[in-house]
Amino acid sequence: MPEKYWPETIVLWGAGATKYLGLHGTKQLIELILKITKDDFSFLYGKDEKLINAFKKLINYDLINDKRLSKIYDIKALKIIIKTNAKLDMHELFTMMDQLIENNMGYNAFLNGNNHFLRVERIQAAKRCLILIIEELERISVQNKPGYFDKENISPYYEFSKVLTELMVEEGKEFERRGYKRDSRRFYLYSYAIISFNWDPVLLWNLCNTNREINKKNIKLKDGLNLKLYEDFGIQTAFIGSNYSESEIKYTVDESQCKGINDYNYPSRIIRMGKMLFPHGMFGSRICPECGKYIINLSNSCNKMSTNIFGPSLLKDLQIGWQYRTSKEKTYERGSIECPYCGQITYPYDMPIIMQTLANSKKVSCLREIKTEMGLIIKHAKHIVFAGYSLPIDDIMVKTFFMSSISGNDKKTLKCSLINYDSDYCGGKSWLTGQNISEYLNVNKDSSKVECIKNICDIFNIDNVRISLKGIPDIFMENGKCSREKVIDLLYPRKFFREGFPIIRD
Ligand SMILES: [Zn+2]
Repeated sequence: MPEKYWPETIVLWGAGATKYLGLHGTKQLIELILKITKDDFSFLYGKDEKLINAFKKLINYDLINDKRLSKIYDIKALKIIIKTNAKLDMHELFTMMDQLIENNMGYNAFLNGNNHFLRVERIQAAKRCLILIIEELERISVQNKPGYFDKENISPYYEFSKVLTELMVEEGKEFERRGYKRDSRRFYLYSYAIISFNWDPVLLWNLCNTNREINKKNIKLKDGLNLKLYEDFGIQTAFIGSNYSESEIKYTVDESQCKGINDYNYPSRIIRMGKMLFPHGMFGSRICPECGKYIINLSNSCNKMSTNIFGPSLLKDLQIGWQYRTSKEKTYERGSIECPYCGQITYPYDMPIIMQTLANSKKVSCLREIKTEMGLIIKHAKHIVFAGYSLPIDDIMVKTFFMSSISGNDKKTLKCSLINYDSDYCGGKSWLTGQNISEYLNVNKDSSKVECIKNICDIFNIDNVRISLKGIPDIFMENGKCSREKVIDLLYPRKFFREGFPIIRD
C-alpha cells in the first residue's frame, strides 16, 4: 500500500505574497535591470545612502574594473543583450540565453551602428551577472537600515509564522490524544506544506525563528517527551548556520531522521515536521563546483531582524554583518561559502536558481528531486492555496506540470483558495465564491488578475474555488495583528474541511 498521509493543504507561495515587504516580482525586476543598463538608479531613492553607494559601486566599478569579477559576471555583455532586446520579459531573456548556451552559440548584436559579437562564454558570464543583480536587488529591497529587515514590514510575516508554528503544536497534541502513531506520517507530518516559487527565504527564516522559539519552550507530550518542530526541504540538505564548527557537515532534519527519532523503542524526544520546498532554488544556496553537493544557508545570525539569511554578498557593504566562518572563506571573501563536504570554495555564481520555466530544471539534480517531491505533494493535496502565486500564463511548462500533477485528483473534491490583491476590492468580503466570482470576472474583463483567476477556474471546478482580493498579509490580519482564526480559515476552512482544525486523518 502506498503512503496514505500527505499534507492536506498546500500553500503555493509566490511573488504577490512578499510584495508588501518590498520584494520585486519578475516583471518589476526586468524593468529595474533595464534602468540599470541605462545608468538610472533613481529607484533606490529613499534607501540608506550606504546601500545606494555600495550597489552603484558594484555595478559601475567592481563588475567593470575588477579583472576577475568582470570576466565571471560580464555586465558589458549583459547590457549589449538587453539593449538589443529592450522588450524582452525575464522569462524570454533567460530562455534565450539558455538556448544559446545549450547550443554552444554566440550572439551577434547590432548596436550604435556596429556589430558586437559575443562568444558563448560571454553569454554564460552575462547570465551569471543577471542572476547576481537579481539577488542583490532583492537583498536591497528588504533593507532600509543596512543588514536588517524593516521591523514594521516583516512583523506580519513573523506573526504569521508564529501562528503556523503554534497551530502545529496544537495539532500534534490533538493527534497524540487521538492515538495517531508517532512514527507515522499520520502524526508527525504537518497538515500544511509550503511550496515557495520565490527565491527569497523570508518565510523560511521566520519559520526557523518561530520553530526555534517553540523548541526552546520544552513543550511536553503526555509521557513527558519534548515536542520539537522542524522544516523538511524535500531532499537531504546540508546547511551552514550560526553554530559552526569548521570541520563538520550539518544536515537539516528530514523525514528519515524524524521516523528514527520518533521510534517507540528509543524514546528521547518527538519531532513533527512540515514540507517546505523551493523548486526554483533559493538565495544563498550553492551547488559545490567540485563535489556537486547541495548546500543551503540558514544564516549565521541569531538576530531575527538580520538579512543574513540571503547569504553573503560580493560586497561587504551590501550584506552588513555577514561573518565569514572558515579560514578559507576569510581569505577569499567575495560571497564565498566553503563546501562542508570537500572544502572547495563556492561563490554566488554557484547558486542554483531557475527562472519560472521548469524546462531547464533537469540539469540541476537537487532541484529536479524537489520538483518530484512537489509533484507528489500537489497530487495528494485536498486544498491548494495560491498565495500570491499566479500560474504564469506564458509558461506552458508550469501550467502543464501543474495540470498533470492534479490530473489524478477527483476534481469534485479538490478545493482551491486564491489570494490576489485588487485595490478596488480589498475592502470588500474576505472571500468571493460562485456567482460573485463570475460577477467580478465580468466587471474586470481586461486585467491580468482576471486572466489568472480564469486560468485557475479552468483547472478547478468553480464550485470548489474561493477568491480573496485582500492580498497578503491582509488576508490573515485583523486590527494590525495576525489572527489565529483567519489563518485557520485560510488553511482549513470549514467550507472545505467539515471537521475544521485540527483536521481528521482517517
Ligand atoms: Zn564540495
